[in-house]
Amino acid sequence: MFRRLIRVLQLTSAFLCLSALASAQSVTAIKAGRLIDPERRTVLSNQVILVEGGKITAVGADVRIPDGATTVDLGQATILPGLIDVHTHLLTNNRPELGGDDNNLNLIVTQMNLGNRALLGSVMARADLEAGLTTVRDVGNSGWNGDVALRDAIEQGWVVGPRMIVSTRAISPPGGQFHRVTAETRSIVEQEFAQISGVEDARRAVRQAIADGADCIKVIAEAATALTVDELRAIVDEAHRARRKVAAHAVRDQTIRDAIDAGVDSIEHGNNVSDDTLRLMAERKVFLVPTDPSWDLYVEGESAVSSLYTRAQILTFQAQTKQLIDRWRGRLKRAIDLGVPVAAGSDVYYRYAGHSRGEASVIKIVRSFRDAGIAPMDLIRASTVNAAELLGWSDRIGSIREGKLADIIAINGDPLKDITVLENAVFVMKDGHIYKPTTPR
Ligand SMILES: [Zn+2]
Repeated sequence: MFRRLIRVLQLTSAFLCLSALASAQSVTAIKAGRLIDPERRTVLSNQVILVEGGKITAVGADVRIPDGATTVDLGQATILPGLIDVHTHLLTNNRPELGGDDNNLNLIVTQMNLGNRALLGSVMARADLEAGLTTVRDVGNSGWNGDVALRDAIEQGWVVGPRMIVSTRAISPPGGQFHRVTAETRSIVEQEFAQISGVEDARRAVRQAIADGADCIKVIAEAATALTVDELRAIVDEAHRARRKVAAHAVRDQTIRDAIDAGVDSIEHGNNVSDDTLRLMAERKVFLVPTDPSWDLYVEGESAVSSLYTRAQILTFQAQTKQLIDRWRGRLKRAIDLGVPVAAGSDVYYRYAGHSRGEASVIKIVRSFRDAGIAPMDLIRASTVNAAELLGWSDRIGSIREGKLADIIAINGDPLKDITVLENAVFVMKDGHIYKPTTPR
């Protein structure tokens, strides 16, 4: 009894100390030379942003800084809303020297337990946040609910990372994205994919995902076989009934059409989408998440493993890749021109030598959009307001507005003149806390 009383007193005094600290530092005022407002497509000069309780309480050129506020003067830097990556795989980090997706996937599920993967994810998550990605939508390849564990650990403050919206295991046709496993080892597929066959299975998988903690649903609409429209409809119906959005991995035009007919919220990749289907996406407001490769990163990655291949093999890979990248660039540009809502997703799940996960993700997005001829403001919108809309989080993130969460980044230079400056965030705030430059927590 006595011990318990002491404990209560200790907790109470700790609480009093913390609350005294909180009130002394309750308001942060950020000053910067330039603020980009992607919502209104405008640039504002000499802005002051007040942050209190993790939220933005005022923005403007004539905002008065209250006495006792902590002022962060970012000089002539450019301020933007925190970036959002809507297609991540934080609990996977393939090694190119081990070969392609098949080799890596088999090794991951057979050699890494959930603890290993969650710890790996914590490193990827920190790197994402430090690169300016304050929110991510993590869409599978996390084992059994490893993404939920990481999301919750970040929310609890155990580890540092972006806000996570997670899918749990992707729902897929039999076999998932494994390419042929033997009958004896088929159970390994279960660790990565919720395999379905038929509409009842589809409904059950969505319900299980939600019970497991999913914030959204990821469906692999095509693998060895494609899901039927009825199966996709059942998935969307169950997910929307529980207010969860559905992201569909779809590459072939027919699969994309089936997914749109079923009512999905976003098409992931959409590489071989036709212009007619793009028009349908624009009409029904279905998002495209392009996840295109960047030629720069591709060449860097290739030179890192070049000793494994002959010169002739490398030239063949390069020619094939160049052709694909050129084709995909064209469809991204046409999508934006046709009015398809586009949200940026990196889909980085390989290690890129010399870059952290966060750096590689921002570089991949920035350069693939730039090379496709997309205007810098459209890329910024794809990474902020559009992404927030796709997540259903427009009321909380995606722009620097009074009442929204204080997710703010700063970069040196003008991204509207040279979009690659976005690759070097010098300041990162999430929920009102400054993570870069690093401050004690
Ligand atoms: Zn992916």
